[in-house]
Amino acid sequence: MARMIIAGNWKMQNDINGSVELVSGLAAGMPAKINCEVVVCPPFTSLETVYSLAKNTKISLGAQNMHFEDSGAFTGEISASMLKSVGCKYVILGHSERRAIFGESNDWINKKIKKALSSGLLPIFCIGETLEERESNITFDVIKKQVVEGLKDITAAQMADIVLAYEPVWAIGTGKTASPAQAQEVHKFIRTLLSELYGAAIAAEVTIQYGGSVKPDNAAELLSQPDINGALVGGACLKADSFIKIIEAAK
Ligand code: PEP
Repeated sequence: MARMIIAGNWKMQNDINGSVELVSGLAAGMPAKINCEVVVCPPFTSLETVYSLAKNTKISLGAQNMHFEDSGAFTGEISASMLKSVGCKYVILGHSERRAIFGESNDWINKKIKKALSSGLLPIFCIGETLEERESNITFDVIKKQVVEGLKDITAAQMADIVLAYEPVWAIGTGKTASPAQAQEVHKFIRTLLSELYGAAIAAEVTIQYGGSVKPDNAAELLSQPDINGALVGGACLKADSFIKIIEAAK
């Protein structure tokens, strides 16, 4: 069975003071018994500080992006080994904001996934269709292309270390959540595709998170769908109490 993972993507929010406040609030409010792994993904500038405050708690650390090269003249970029050196376990790759605003292609994302894996980081690989694509009835084609090209040359053994996040672009930051049935339909399609690519046993183990306006009041129903194994949360992870309610919704 796939493990349940609830991750919070802080995006470009929280300076050091805000980061200390948020992770401290999470650590203090975390229920004694939780049924999922909890990951926070602060901005690069807060990673080390958040790691030092979270390392003896149930909170794991992730980054929001990285470059696929090891080092060199890539002004403004961050490498996998840099992320490892400040305590990251996960890295979000292929977020729709990286694809749409910064022009990241499936090929770049594939290179990043390979570099993350060879460096010992677990990728949270994001995929999802735009509203226009959904309304043109090409959601499954878009998802298939993103999965096949993003996972090019990834082996079955490596697949066990990858988390997928299905995030319909029209649901991100809009308050419009996919209905549990809409999300489950795409998650099932993704798992079937993984089964064709890697076999049923591996596909059953892959965590497929849902992301897109997950809130305390819709989390339980989304997370109870058979192929939804967690959430990637934006807005609702920025307050400790609402993120904790989502964590509590994971059964
Ligand atoms: C996200 O950006 O990954 C996300 C899901 O954001 P929100 O929860 O705010 O829709």
